Amino acid sequence: MTSAVMCRGLVYIYRLEGYDVVALGGVDLDIAPGESVALLGPSGSGKSTLLSLLAGLLRPAAGRAAIDDIDLAKASEAELARMRATTVGVVLQGAERNLLPYLTAEQNVRFAQRGAAAHGVQGMPSPRDVLSLVGLGVRGKLRQRPDQMSPGDRQRLALAVALAHKPGLLLVDEPTSQLDTIARDEIIAALEGVRKLGTTVVVVTHDPEVGARMGRQVTIRDGRVGAEGQLGEEFALVGRDGSVHLPPEILAVLPPGTRLRVHAMPDGTVSLVPAVSTLEVADAAR
Ligand code: ADP
Ligand code: MG
Repeated sequence: MTSAVMCRGLVYIYRLEGYDVVALGGVDLDIAPGESVALLGPSGSGKSTLLSLLAGLLRPAAGRAAIDDIDLAKASEAELARMRATTVGVVLQGAERNLLPYLTAEQNVRFAQRGAAAHGVQGMPSPRDVLSLVGLGVRGKLRQRPDQMSPGDRQRLALAVALAHKPGLLLVDEPTSQLDTIARDEIIAALEGVRKLGTTVVVVTHDPEVGARMGRQVTIRDGRVGAEGQLGEEFALVGRDGSVHLPPEILAVLPPGTRLRVHAMPDGTVSLVPAVSTLEVADAAR
């Protein structure tokens, strides 16, 4: 079973004492079943918030979000817990947060499967097969506890725990931060293995190498979807309010505040021509 993701004008606000932080300011995003998507973007742009919303760990302040036919704003807490136990696998940033420290690798996966079985999930692979999928199927590693593992193996175990119940959607936050390149390549290989099974994969990453290996790249900037890339080509997206987020290299030429003349050409192209400000004209005339 693969899962689809839908977000429409999705807003999330952290309410702090005295002020609010608008972490997501209207995200529009559709992910088809079986797609693999990297969420890229600068620190603080809202990537982790978006992932937590899709995991049902946070509730939208406005707008809509759905996984398959589960409405993430309207679902009860019990329905969201059921969704995480049956449909969605989540790996939060920092592998340890996803693991029980006193259990071995095999026991960690089995524990996750027990939770899924309690929600009626059937036909789950053996813990060993799940661990093999992420490259941890070798005998010595099955019996290791998280504190006995390398950081890369710990991250792969966190992936295995999230995959234990064969979710249709895997959500992963920064799986390669603080890993060396060998461990990073093992994580990428594990994610590609999951992709090939048909699982829908959403990975938050600031690692371009990880991003490039996903089928589609979506940039989050200031709490909204900025540019989109597919097959090596980058696209700017027109938002529902008519705004366009420009890629950084264009923004360097057209800094915020630039006034643009917008011309639609008969051949379908659209040109943006910076208007010379009246001040500059006055300066040049002096
Ligand atoms: P990213 O994962 O892209 O770095 P986040 O989703 O963590 O971005 O954060 C988006 C915005 O929300 C940032 O401005 C961040 O400071 C703020 N934020 C994140 N988590 C919290 C929190 N628990 N309380 C208050 N503000 C937060
Ligand atoms: Mg983050």
